[in-house]
Amino acid sequence: MTEKFDAVDVIRTKRDGARLSDDQIDWVVDAYTRGVVAEEQMAALNMAIFLKGMDRSEISRWTQAMIDSGETMGFEALSRPTADKHSTGGVGDKITLPLAPLVASFGVAVPQLSGRGLGHTGGTLDKLEAIPGWQADVTNERLMEILEDPGCVICAAGAGLAPADKKIYALRDITATVDCIPLIASSIMSKKIAEGTASLVLDVKVGSGAFMKDINMARELASTMVELGKDHNVITTALLTDMSTPLGCKVGNALEVEESVEVLAGGGPADIVELTVALAREMLTAAGQPDADIEAALKDGRAMDTWKKMIRAQGGDPDAPLPVAPHTHDVIADADGYLTELDALAVGVASWRLGAGRARKEDPVQKTAGIELHAVRGDKVVKGQKLFTLHTETPERFDRALESLMPGVKIGPEAPEARGSVVLDRID
Ligand code: URA
Repeated sequence: MTEKFDAVDVIRTKRDGARLSDDQIDWVVDAYTRGVVAEEQMAALNMAIFLKGMDRSEISRWTQAMIDSGETMGFEALSRPTADKHSTGGVGDKITLPLAPLVASFGVAVPQLSGRGLGHTGGTLDKLEAIPGWQADVTNERLMEILEDPGCVICAAGAGLAPADKKIYALRDITATVDCIPLIASSIMSKKIAEGTASLVLDVKVGSGAFMKDINMARELASTMVELGKDHNVITTALLTDMSTPLGCKVGNALEVEESVEVLAGGGPADIVELTVALAREMLTAAGQPDADIEAALKDGRAMDTWKKMIRAQGGDPDAPLPVAPHTHDVIADADGYLTELDALAVGVASWRLGAGRARKEDPVQKTAGIELHAVRGDKVVKGQKLFTLHTETPERFDRALESLMPGVKIGPEAPEARGSVVLDRID
């Protein structure tokens, strides 16, 4: 087949700061997926995009080209409206687990096609795999059945959705081109639009434990994604949320399932409940139920019933005990005062070093590894009290985990400013 363009010309266009034409974008994404554009050529183009950016219409076209590289799904056949959530990833971010059944308990279908963790932010599928028997893979036919009843499914995204993104993301990961707003926005939105949800809420994390350390960058990423959603007729809103300190008090796969179940039982840490309710409010409003009594569904067991059905629908036993780590190590406060700092990245990397996360995508994760926080930022502490418990299956990891954790922990004489709301801003 004669090719319409030459990859070198496309790279040169962007290298020199010009706009890529629609035809150039369609061609380069398709030709790379077909293997005609070489890895080093796409790597060079990604770097040119990283350095020179893309305008709004280029990002929209790039997103569409990635959608067109694979299959698309649709949920129009369902009797329920659909609403989905995507988080850009954070430490202790287990919100999908209580959120999906909570929203589904109001008769909305929640298809959470999720991934595994890479680096210090855990993957939703890794967390659920801590539940005995639970399976991440479901066929498309079964997915539709579960979306009718109980109404929510958290499963592995099929390989057919936006395959161009899978290739490009893997390349960005090894060429220092991940943290680029046009590339992140098009990557996330191509998968969500290809999946076919009618509405989407984005949880864009801001702070040390997130991709976006800076609120202005996070705002720009959120606005770009909201506009892409609207371009593609998906009702899209975004919340900017704090990721300077971990969410909740448990970080690690089985530990995060445990904390999610506490929330579904009507308890759990205040920040997790606040964010779960705020995201549920966005999803239910988009699905036509702005006045739903969300807190009541957590308190009266409706969300818990839906959770149990969802876990059983994928082979899991929601009543089985979760696995527990054979080795623990307590960190003890060495002074009286206030916990003035508990840095999200320090905790995330420590948990990862304990075995909760993976360094390469083919690595296994430990179900039981992670960190329990007995005090969170702002708490008063007394010398000798237990601050944290580290969990692992491989105790030789404690030292490296502590090397990451301890520089992110400070005790001081003055109470720090109160955290305030986890939700920093809303974009629609
Ligand atoms: N998550 C994605 O799916 N893509 C990105 O580029 C970054 C985060």
